[in-house]
Amino acid sequence: MQTQTETPPLAALQGPPEDPKIELLGMPLKKLEDLLEGFGEKRFRAVQLAEWIYKKKSWDFESMTNLSKSLREKLKRHCRVSLLTVARRQVSRRDGTTKYLFRCPDGELVESVYLPHEGRRTACLSTQVGCAMGCRFCATGDSGFSRHLSSWEIVAQVLGIEADQGLELDNLVYMGMGEPMHNWEGTRESLATLLDPAGRGFGPRHVTVSTCGVVPGILKLAESGLGARLAVSLHAPDDATRGALMPVNDRYPLRELMGACRAYQEKTGLQLTFEYTLFAGQNDGVGDARALAALLKGLECKVNLIPYNPVAGLPHQAPDFQAVAAFQTELKRLGLSAMLRTEKGGDIDAACGQLRRRSLEAGGAAKEDGSDG
Ligand code: SF4
Repeated sequence: MQTQTETPPLAALQGPPEDPKIELLGMPLKKLEDLLEGFGEKRFRAVQLAEWIYKKKSWDFESMTNLSKSLREKLKRHCRVSLLTVARRQVSRRDGTTKYLFRCPDGELVESVYLPHEGRRTACLSTQVGCAMGCRFCATGDSGFSRHLSSWEIVAQVLGIEADQGLELDNLVYMGMGEPMHNWEGTRESLATLLDPAGRGFGPRHVTVSTCGVVPGILKLAESGLGARLAVSLHAPDDATRGALMPVNDRYPLRELMGACRAYQEKTGLQLTFEYTLFAGQNDGVGDARALAALLKGLECKVNLIPYNPVAGLPHQAPDFQAVAAFQTELKRLGLSAMLRTEKGGDIDAACGQLRRRSLEAGGAAKEDGSDG
């Protein structure tokens, strides 16, 4: 379906009064074209500008030599390309997993993780500072919600990791701090920028958006045409258990959630991923595995089983090895693809929200660099 977008007025694109320049990073191509047209330029200049930003990684307008002098002057006067600074970095000696704490211009801290694994270079991105979803097992949820991240702050995590690691990422998962569907605009614009061949150019099958079950967001992603994959954090096969772990289940119970998952699959034809964290004595019984298989019947999907990694101050326990093995065996016996996800970066604060929380508690937010690597 073709959608019509209006050219936004200049004021709508400007930043806060103290810095009214227009942020170009994370601006989808269509919006960039509209902006340049508003400057009296040809629309195709937007592709050239995007190439400088995302392919040549050059953010100094003066060096963009295939743009006219007058356009470069306009860009300098009205626009900016911002990046996030690395406030802290932890490197796992076990597997090279690197956890970043990026500092935003307003001082907020954002976590991202670089995961080198089996030849793939994956980044786990945050979409919010904190999270409003309040999942009972999560350090981020426990710390509350501050604000949404802008599209540029999401895209800047990708560029920041690539610059720090000296490589190009090939996979992205929107699975860090925050609920991507709660920040749909930031998620949509950053996806559009990162997936566009004129932007960063990630293959849509290499980008996965994770949700705790925000049904309207799943439907929007399905309708968006962006082609990104969907992962749903399920964590329980019935409403009572899931509601006790995840307050979002009260708003969007399993029946509604599974309906949205089926609609997403019908619309996109893509396989779904379900994340299932196993908590000792809560959702790790063989009966739970059978209920899960029944819930997912008819969907083309795979299940990632994640033994819980306890978070200090939260009451849940890690399951024992036998329970995890029996759960996986039962799912496989019932015909489901069930992978056991081994813990990455087990020797660092790799679980979502832990590094930020520890840094805030220790006053680490004020430090310029706390590289633990
Ligand atoms: S698990 Fe995800 S959705 Fe739930 S509180 Fe944590 S960050 Fe938010």
